[in-house]
Amino acid sequence: MTAGTGVERGVWAAPGRVNLIGEHTDYCDGFVLPFALPQRTVVTAERLGRPEWSVTSTLTGETVTFDLSEPVTGWAAYVAAVVWALRDAGHDVPGARLHVDSDVPGGAGLSSSAALECAVLSALADLGGLDIPLAHRPKLAQRAENEYVGVPCGIMDQSASTLCREGHALFLDCRTMATEHVPLDLAGQGLAILVIDSRAPHQLADGEYAARRAACERAAALLGLPALRDAALADLSRLDDPLLVRRARHVVTENARVLETIALLREGRLREIGPLMTASHASMRDDFEITVPEVDEAVETALAAGAYGARMTGGGFGGCVLALVEAEKLDAVAEAVHTAFATRGFRPPATFTALPAPGAHRLS
Ligand code: ADP
Ligand code: MG
Repeated sequence: MTAGTGVERGVWAAPGRVNLIGEHTDYCDGFVLPFALPQRTVVTAERLGRPEWSVTSTLTGETVTFDLSEPVTGWAAYVAAVVWALRDAGHDVPGARLHVDSDVPGGAGLSSSAALECAVLSALADLGGLDIPLAHRPKLAQRAENEYVGVPCGIMDQSASTLCREGHALFLDCRTMATEHVPLDLAGQGLAILVIDSRAPHQLADGEYAARRAACERAAALLGLPALRDAALADLSRLDDPLLVRRARHVVTENARVLETIALLREGRLREIGPLMTASHASMRDDFEITVPEVDEAVETALAAGAYGARMTGGGFGGCVLALVEAEKLDAVAEAVHTAFATRGFRPPATFTALPAPGAHRLS
């Protein structure tokens, strides 16, 4: 299935991501609209002459060596997972020494896990001269995280980290994997996206994520549909359980909001996506119930300080909020959020701005 001449060594990078809109829609075969962050994971790698992998991370200060004869756990599982998924797909993965460095905040919903997987995948593919089209890589990296690490994530994060383009958001149809690179010229329109890392501890995240996913799958099955992507709002009256109705309503309305957002972006009407972002947040708060007080506070404060729209991004139960603001109002909005968090007695948030950056690529 594979072979070719690889490179001896090199440096590869893959970014974290934020999702402009389309939350918990990916595993429902729906629509998402992420863009890549300038924050990225960089992997320096060299080929070894034996089927063994050694990985060092500056984050943990550890070196882990494995040959896949024993299960790998902990952070290095994300690396072993990629080797496993590539092998399982029939690729002759070269042994390698890898060094990982990253400025993607971990566990903040910015997908440091996908950044790590996709950077490692890029490195191993080039070291081995493996013929793996870009379009096939997200599924491989997702399978690594699903099957080997055991996290039931959808396809969005790995797609964003692999496929995004600078200056663009990635419109991804998670059923067909069709993509469109939608221009997102924030700076050109005097706009900015403020990312607010709520730094809320999110202990419940894994179990609740799985529970939401299961609810969506149950709702689709009860409706006799392959996925909630195929449901219309009117269908939901056929569900008896009011909780399932709310969960499904989030997905159905969120998919519609993604399509409306893209229609506006195609026409360069960036400011007008604000209300869709805010409606997305309300849906996550009220119907999907995945927000926490810190992210609700960040959204409300940003809006009160003049943001066009604001919403939590990522799986939920903490993580980051995006606020679309006039560039000249950035400081005022950030300051208002810091003040509000202090008043509420929350941990201080971290704030930064994000322009759409490129997906995974070789640096040298
Ligand atoms: P997120 O993807 O939102 O950042 P996850 O819990 O999915 O959060 O992934 C974070 C985990 O990924 C970390 O706990 C760690 O195991 C692993 N990880 C990500 N980046 C690195 C890195 N640079 N070095 C070591 N481990 C990393
Ligand atoms: Mg992750």
